[in-house]
Amino acid sequence: MHELALCEGVLQALEEQAKIQHFARVHAVWLEIGALSSVEPEALRFNFDVIMHGTLAEGSRLEIVTVPAQAWCLPCGGKVSIRQYFDACPRCGSHQLQVVEGEELRIQQLEVE
Ligand SMILES: [Zn+2]
Repeated sequence: MHELALCEGVLQALEEQAKIQHFARVHAVWLEIGALSSVEPEALRFNFDVIMHGTLAEGSRLEIVTVPAQAWCLPCGGKVSIRQYFDACPRCGSHQLQVVEGEELRIQQLEVE
């Protein structure tokens, strides 16, 4: 039910933005989803349609932008790409990694009227 809560959060953000920026309809939403956020795109789309029904974003298009995961490797002293939590560093095999990107869940862009 992760995706349902996420869509409720998006709707809240849209309603706030609508007040601030004075728009009445949302046509498209670009959502940045980090590769580590464990969000199912299919479930997200389904919940998005359900939650947006009867709101300012009813029938709007959901564009999912996947953000690749990156971690800081202490031994390498640099950023490396990872696919999931607890992955080893692809360069040195170390597990001393700190995730720096890939957990985001945010609205990147809106198409409004
Ligand atoms: Zn490393």
